[in-house]
Amino acid sequence: MTDLLCPHCKTPIDEHEANRCLDGWVALSVTALELRMYPGALNPHHYPNDDWNKDYEGDMRHTRPVPEHSTDIAAAWDVVEKLISKGLFPGVGYDEETWEVWIFLDEPIEGQMGSHIKSRDPNEKLAICRAALKAVGAA
Ligand SMILES: [Zn+2]
Repeated sequence: MTDLLCPHCKTPIDEHEANRCLDGWVALSVTALELRMYPGALNPHHYPNDDWNKDYEGDMRHTRPVPEHSTDIAAAWDVVEKLISKGLFPGVGYDEETWEVWIFLDEPIEGQMGSHIKSRDPNEKLAICRAALKAVGAA
């Protein structure tokens, strides 16, 4: 499998740090938020509020920041739930001070390791984000 590169900074997935760039990548590829880029904005990753319509184009008051998927466990868990809604089967484990996130691409069968994506990191939010991006890239 070829290494996935961040569409914004071109960093390989397994080297990408937990930051707003990764949050934007997850929002774009996993949770499928409609991102709009604002030149010069402090945080370029914004998406429309519910009251968005095209008349507000470029008006920051009608957008909100992308959730902090890679640094906030509540926002990371939204990614896990999104994977479930896509028909994937995530699992989270902890071993030797490192979090492991598996995402099974098919329904798990007792006693068998089906095709799956795995990601390990001491930061469980980062492991979730990396595994999720690999899973949607591979599924
Ligand atoms: Zn990036």
